[in-house]
Amino acid sequence: MLVVMRMDASPDQIDGVVRRVESHGLKASPIAGAQRTAVGITGNLGVVEPGLFESLPGVLEVIQVSHPYKLVSREFHAEDTILEVGDVKIGGRDLLIIAGPCSVESYEQTLRIAETVKASGAHLLRGGAFKPRTSPYSFQGLGREGLKILARVREVTGLPVVTEALDIDVLDDVAEVADIVQIGARNMQNYTLLRRAGQCGRPILLKRGMNATVTEWLLAAEYILDQGNEQVILCERGIRTFADHTRSTLDVAAIPAVKQISHLPVIADPSHAAGQRDKVIPLARAAVAVGADGLMVEVHDEPDEALSDGNQALLPGQFVELMEEIRLLASVLDRQVPSQASQRSL
Ligand code: PEP
Ligand code: MN
Repeated sequence: MLVVMRMDASPDQIDGVVRRVESHGLKASPIAGAQRTAVGITGNLGVVEPGLFESLPGVLEVIQVSHPYKLVSREFHAEDTILEVGDVKIGGRDLLIIAGPCSVESYEQTLRIAETVKASGAHLLRGGAFKPRTSPYSFQGLGREGLKILARVREVTGLPVVTEALDIDVLDDVAEVADIVQIGARNMQNYTLLRRAGQCGRPILLKRGMNATVTEWLLAAEYILDQGNEQVILCERGIRTFADHTRSTLDVAAIPAVKQISHLPVIADPSHAAGQRDKVIPLARAAVAVGADGLMVEVHDEPDEALSDGNQALLPGQFVELMEEIRLLASVLDRQVPSQASQRSL
């Protein structure tokens, strides 16, 4: 950390900063420049609170030099983390495709869509049993009944399952069924839930909050790793901006930005970003082109009847098209979309 002094800061004020630094057991190194002095702070093991110095007389600003996160960063772990779920590898050269309905609506609906996406090459099935809905009057998901449906569909199709844990009360039940536990955008800063996710023994798909910076997102992941769970997949799902031509703005630049900082795999969810099915495939292409390790997309065979997010669900034929395009893209990016032949039936 660097405490930058004002141009007119007096020697006493610089001393004041040095004394405050030393009083916290840290080392202060004043660096005199042509116009102003900055005081470098070293010797800290964790994050130093900028507020300790910001209001001292003569201080202009406090600059964080090192990152506030540790376990998620490449400084700590240089190589890409590659997760294994059954025979599916997440990260590395492989592109992971997760597909399925927004919500589990019934056994028949979930099975039908699971078989469809499996036939087209999806590696994992998605489907929410507990749904975070903006309105309390909207369909809230089938709850534990939905989890049972997902377990049965996995048994029949062999597709591993990703589903959301909405709160700590349901986390253990979700973790019992899910091959990957999803923490949704609205819960990205639910620190109690993140800690529990770090203890649940399952890989976690951590969606980016719609108002979260990259740093906040990585710090949320840090909570999970800090509990000993290194199996985290980050998912960019769009953020709030002034743009109103899509539901959210898929922050494609965040994908290479995060991959540069972190060893964790990063996938994209173009469905929740787009909010409209005709924009899902173009955004999916963009995400893969900038280096996403996979995609999570919503697919429904009767979107007009869907209980949530029907507007953004790809039709089965469009999902086939998406898979073809992603396979083509993968070949020019020196990546691959693994065939399910290598997947174990669970
Ligand atoms: C979802 O994946 O069904 C979902 C609710 O996504 P998000 O948390 O990104 O809104
Ligand atoms: Mn949805």
